[in-house]
Amino acid sequence: MIPLISSSCVLCDTSVNKEISLCDACQADLPAISHACRACGIPLDEAQSICGQCLKSPPKVDYSLSLYHYEIPIDYLITELKFTQKLSHAAILGFLLKQQLLKNNPKDLPDALLPVPLHRKRLIKRGFNQSLEIAKIVAKELNIPIENQLIQRSKATRAQTELNLKQRKTNIKGCFNLKNPNEKMPDLQHIVIIDDVVTTGATTNELAKVLKSAGVKKVGVWSIARAVLHHKVI
Ligand SMILES: [Zn+2]
Ligand SMILES: [Zn+2]
Repeated sequence: MIPLISSSCVLCDTSVNKEISLCDACQADLPAISHACRACGIPLDEAQSICGQCLKSPPKVDYSLSLYHYEIPIDYLITELKFTQKLSHAAILGFLLKQQLLKNNPKDLPDALLPVPLHRKRLIKRGFNQSLEIAKIVAKELNIPIENQLIQRSKATRAQTELNLKQRKTNIKGCFNLKNPNEKMPDLQHIVIIDDVVTTGATTNELAKVLKSAGVKKVGVWSIARAVLHHKVI
């Protein structure tokens, strides 16, 4: 349980007395995704449960949950977290994710959470992995271990921002691998990848591919936001 804190809302400055520095009114105004493709998490009309792309070419990821559209103020919170070291925003985003998960009451919880790994150089530059910081909150509340040493990002990739869908897939291909391929994999049947923002799903799918080739049976993705390709995600 996260203790109640007395502070002001990060978005409107109203004083708040709850677990996170986000007032109820601002939380209610966040751009929630009401309905999405169950496989890739892209927002959809109510009538569909799976998108055309996933029907045509089923992704390696078995299911996805993205909470919000990558729009104001979610994009602001994520950008500030990553580029101005506002680690307190990770507590807010992690709280929102765990709150939604508790509401959904999933029956089939994963054996472990896997935050999308950053390349070593980027990790050194940023000082932390935002997905790991978000995962920590969820892991604690749902009592699921974090598996942070299984996979590494061995290839420093170009920023996905500048690339189209096809280029993103090529750019990310082969960039993840098992850290200790000769060691026995821990017995993990079901893993959920934690990401801050999913755009095309190229990164999470590449990770799922590596996990499945190592024997993991089911891979899900829980992310804070889902962007579409024309959004500028940095
Ligand atoms: Zn507020
Ligand atoms: Zn889909």
